[in-house]
This record gives sequence, C-alpha cells and structure tokens, in this order.
Amino acid sequence: MKLLLFDIDGTLVRGAPPVHRQALCDAAREVFGAQLAPAEFGQTAGMTDSAIARRELRSVGVPDAEITAGLAAFSTAAAEAYDRLAPDDLSAYHTPHAVSALVWLRAGGATLGLVTGNIERIAWRKLSAAGLASFFTLDTPGASVSAPRWIGGFGDQAEDRNALPPLALAHAERALGVMPQPRDTWVIGDTPADISCGAAHDLRTVAVATGPIHSLAELRACGPDLALADLGELPAAILED
Ligand SMILES: [Mg+2]
Repeated sequence: MKLLLFDIDGTLVRGAPPVHRQALCDAAREVFGAQLAPAEFGQTAGMTDSAIARRELRSVGVPDAEITAGLAAFSTAAAEAYDRLAPDDLSAYHTPHAVSALVWLRAGGATLGLVTGNIERIAWRKLSAAGLASFFTLDTPGASVSAPRWIGGFGDQAEDRNALPPLALAHAERALGVMPQPRDTWVIGDTPADISCGAAHDLRTVAVATGPIHSLAELRACGPDLALADLGELPAAILED
C-alpha cells in the first residue's frame, strides 16, 4: 500500500484570497486581545498555524505561558473566523494538475492523506471549497464504524511540523488496520520544512515547486527523493516506483 501525505498551501491550493491569515488575526484579537495585521506576518511557508500564532503573538508581547494556555481556544476561534470569511468556492485556486494527479493516484490504488500546517477545521473547509476534500476521504469497506475516515496530521495538533507525520501514521494504522511502511509513505510539499518533516521519520519525500517562495532548484538542494515542477508527474513517479 502506498500512502501519500499532502501539504495543502502551495501544494494543492495556491493564490487564494488571504482570509486564512485574517482568520488567525481575528482569533488573536478574540482570544488574546492582541492586534495582529496579516500584512505584517513574517515568512510563514512551511510553518504550522500554531507556530505562526506563537511567533506573531510573542512579537506583540503576549507571554509564552499565556499563548500555550490559549492555543486550543485560538484554533477554535480561527476555524470559526475562517469559516465565516472564506469563499464557498476555491476551485479556481488549484495548483497545476492537482485534480488530475489526485484522480490518477486514487485510481492507481494509492491512499491519500494530509500533513498540513493548517488547523484541521480550516484544512477541511479549504479543501471542501476547493472541491478536493473527497479525495482524502477513505473508502474502506468493512472498516469498523469507529475507524477514522481520513488520515492526517494538522497544525493545531502540534506546533512543530516534524511532529505531524507520526500523527498521520498513527491515524493510518487505526484507519487501515496496518501501519504503513516508511518506504511506501511519501510526504509531498512545497517547502524545505515539508521535506525535513518527512525525512525526520525516514519517510520518502517529494518537493513540488508550486509554492510562492521556493524554486525547484532550492527545493532540490534540500535533498528530497523527488523534486518536481508541479504535481503533473507525481502519479507516474509514485505508482511505478
Ligand atoms: Mg505549503
């Protein structure tokens, strides 16, 4: 069984209106009374929403202990704000070949999951609006009703992206009844952080140069197993591996 764990921003979806950052700012005001501005965020590519929140809240003087205590409430508030702010249709913001690659991979028998810095509820809302959520719903006839219906590690479950692949693998074991083998598990993303989080667990890694920051050459220099211009070549590379 081949398991593919996809990043979302810059990998499946790009260029969407900046409502995700606005949702984080709204939640910061609601939960911490902090004034953040989307345009003043530093570089966020590859970071989890929790890590972005901590960095930006620290920068306006919120103490670490207060951030830690409020992070769960922050994630809930951010998800509610995103739900309110995000367009219902994000299908114009797929990365090149995203849909055809997901169709082809599913048809080829690959299992699709997520390793994303997005807060989980934001991830599902975003993928649903983009028309991509159904690709990440498991089709496992005979699975127990308590088995997870999807596989993922999300940015409200850890601040450190490197902690997310094991969460997704544990999810996969519960969902599928078998622990995926590292050599059959691929982490796919558009930043060095995606590559390093997969490599940290001896998983295979695919860099795609569809994000806003990192070129194909920069990503290749990080040493992924595969470096691709976009998702177009991914299915053949994975399914024929
Ligand atoms: Mg990304």
